[in-house]
Amino acid sequence: MSGLADIVARIRAAESKAGRAEGSVGLVAVSKRQPLVRIEAVLASGHRVFGENKVQEAQGKWPDFRERFEGVKLHLIGPLQTNKARTAMELFDCIETVDRPKLARTIARLAGEMGRCPDLFVQVNTGAEPQKSGVLPDEAGALIAECRDLELPVAGLMCIPPFDADPVPHFRLLREIAARNGLGQLSMGMSGDFEAAIAEGATLVRVGSAIFGAREYGQNRPDGEG
Ligand SMILES: *Cc1c(COP(=O)(O)O)cnc(C)c1O
Repeated sequence: MSGLADIVARIRAAESKAGRAEGSVGLVAVSKRQPLVRIEAVLASGHRVFGENKVQEAQGKWPDFRERFEGVKLHLIGPLQTNKARTAMELFDCIETVDRPKLARTIARLAGEMGRCPDLFVQVNTGAEPQKSGVLPDEAGALIAECRDLELPVAGLMCIPPFDADPVPHFRLLREIAARNGLGQLSMGMSGDFEAAIAEGATLVRVGSAIFGAREYGQNRPDGEG
């Protein structure tokens, strides 16, 4: 799959340019609303880490792929309603969108019942956009502290910069909030800006259309989609 190989090569080049260790940036291949044949091609080429933004859509396609391909890791990168938390925790290896105390408490309670918990990221609404999910930058520290009190495995922070803004100040803000709170992982950067995100310290980039091609239907904006 040339899309995948090309993106992996560009990630390695961006790591090297930023003086980062080779392989220090992980790739989440964002497979939402992609035809199954394209996802299958990326699986067949050996990639195993994928991102989906809707619990129900992921539930529809991944159990089947998981039976056929070993070692799949799924990241939830879209907003999570508390009433879908259990399903999400059963399906996903990582939930990147913890953004409010109520959700953190629900995940903690379910983790107690289930005896395990996916890796977690706190999503920060770096642009303070009213329609976008994510905790406000000023409130991130308190939410991270609450997650720690609940003994949740928070690995890092995630952000989706405003659609039409220069993303770099947003990447920097996310990095600062992570550093202030002692978190090592940064999920930031998409098809149009992952190299800039790597230069700013991303440890995980979420790339969809540049790997798979344009999505099947609907608009292309992340978060709040459909
Ligand atoms: C869809 C989506 C992406 C991938 O966007 P592309 O522009 O296709 O790379 C990344 N992150 C989130 C949260 C998304 O919803």
